[in-house]
Amino acid sequence: MLTRADLVCEDAFVGGKWVQARSGDTIDVINPARGDVIARVPDLSRAEVAEAIASGETARHDWAKRTAKDRAGVLRKWFNLMMDHQEDLAIILTAEQGKPIAEARGEIGYGASFIEWFAEEAKRIYGETIPGHQPNLRINVIKQPIGVAAGITPWNFPNAMIARKVAPALAAGCAFIIRPSELTPLSALAMGKLAQEAGVPDGLFSVVTTSDASGTGKEFCENEAVRKLTFTGSTQVGRILLKQAADQVMKCSMELGGNAPFIVFDDADLDEAVTGAIACKFRNNGQTCVCANRIYVQSGVYDAFAEKLKIAVEKLQIGDGFADGTTLGPMIEAKAVKKVENHLADALSKGATVITGGKPHKDGGMFYEPTIVTGATQDMAVATEETFGPFAPLFKFDDVDDVIAQANDTIFGLAAYFYAKDLSRVTKVAEALEYGIVGVNTGIISTEVAPFGGVKQSGLGREGSRHGIEDYLEMKYICMSV
Ligand code: ADP
Repeated sequence: MLTRADLVCEDAFVGGKWVQARSGDTIDVINPARGDVIARVPDLSRAEVAEAIASGETARHDWAKRTAKDRAGVLRKWFNLMMDHQEDLAIILTAEQGKPIAEARGEIGYGASFIEWFAEEAKRIYGETIPGHQPNLRINVIKQPIGVAAGITPWNFPNAMIARKVAPALAAGCAFIIRPSELTPLSALAMGKLAQEAGVPDGLFSVVTTSDASGTGKEFCENEAVRKLTFTGSTQVGRILLKQAADQVMKCSMELGGNAPFIVFDDADLDEAVTGAIACKFRNNGQTCVCANRIYVQSGVYDAFAEKLKIAVEKLQIGDGFADGTTLGPMIEAKAVKKVENHLADALSKGATVITGGKPHKDGGMFYEPTIVTGATQDMAVATEETFGPFAPLFKFDDVDDVIAQANDTIFGLAAYFYAKDLSRVTKVAEALEYGIVGVNTGIISTEVAPFGGVKQSGLGREGSRHGIEDYLEMKYICMSV
C-alpha cells in the first residue's frame, strides 16, 4: 500500500511546474505482470521539451553561483526524502517495471546512494595551481559546470539510471533534463516530486515524458543550450546520438550495451560461482547491461557446475513482483521475450541442449522460464549479441588463453566476471580482459563508490566514484601576469 498516493504523478515536470501535454496526448503506462494500464502520462511534443531546456538554461546560473555546501545540502535533503519514501518508490517501480519488490527496494537504495555520494563530492571539485612557465606568470586551473545537461534512460532501472546522471549534474552546478523511457516514466516523475520538496529550484531538474524518442534525441543534440548529453541504452541508439551530437561538438557520456563473459576456472569454488552466476545472470530477469551473457566453464568442472547451476535455477520463483517469494518477475515487453526465444532457437539449431527451462512459463504473458543450455559455441547468436533475458548458455573451454580470446572476441567491453583462486591466474586474467569492469569471485559489481562504465563499443565516460562528476565539468586554465 502506498503511503503517499501523490507520488504517482500523471503530469510531466517542466520548469518546476506539473503540466499536461498541450496536445492533450498521453502515454499508457502498463504493468508488465498483468498487462493493465496503471497510469497515463503526458506525451510532450518536441517544442515542450525545448521549453524544459530553456527553463534549465535560466535556472542554472543562480544554482552554479551557490556554494558547493549549499548545493550539497539540497541534494542531501533529496537523498533523505528518497530513503524516507523508499517503500513507496519501490512499489511504483515494481508496478511499472515488474521486478520483484525486494529488488525494487534495493534499486531505490542504490539510486539514492548516488545522490548522497555526489552531494558529498560537490564539495570536492578541486582545481589546480601550476608553477608558472615565466617568472611573472601564475597558472590556475578551475573547474566549472558545463551548463545544461540532458539525459535519456532505459526502462530496466527506472530510478537508478536517472539518479546516476542527475546527481553529479546538480552537484557540479548544472541543470538537468531527463527523458525517461516511455515504458517506465512514473519512477522518474516521483523523483521529480521529491526533488521539488527537497528544494531543487524550479527549472533545474525537468522530467519530460514523451513517446517521441528520436525527436527528443534530436532536440537534445541540436538545441544550443544543451552542452552535455548522457545516455544509457543500446549501442545502436548510442551511435545515432553520438553522430547527432557531433554537429554541436557536444560532450557525451554513453553507457551502452554489454555482452558479459562469466568464466569459471577449474580452481574456482563452484558453490560461490553458482551464487555469483545466479545473481549476475538472473537479477532483473537478465535485463541488465552487466548481466552475464556467456558462461564459460573449464572442462574439468563443466558437468559439476552445470548440475549445481540447474539446481539453483530451478529454485527461482517466477511471478508477479508483488507476490511473496517471487525472485523472477515478468520480462518488460513481448519484444524482449521474443529475443530470448530467438537466441534459444538459434542455439538449439547449432547443437545446444536445454537442461532446464526452454519455454514460456505456464502463466504466459511476459513470463518466461529461466533457461540453461549446455554445448554453447562461438558461432551462436548469443556469443555476439546481448540476450537481455533469463537465458544462460554454458560454453566449455580447456585453455586459459583460448577463453580470454573468446571472452574478448566482441565489440562490447562493459563487465566481465571470473571465478578462480590461483593468485597468478587471477591477476593475469583480470588484466587481460578488455572490459571496463571486472568482477573476480563476485557476481555483483555495482556501487556508487566505483567508476562504472565500458570500453570499446560499450561506451564513453564513467558514472559513480570521484570520476563521475568530471563528465559535468569543464576545465578552465587562467594564466595571470603579476
Ligand atoms: P533498450 O533496448 O534498453 O530499450 P534503447 O537504446 O532502444 O535500449 O533505448 C534506450 C532509451 O533510448 C529509451 O528510453 C528509448 O526510448 C530511447 N531511444 C530509442 N531510440 C532513440 C533515438 N533515436 N533517439 C533518442 N532516444 C532514443
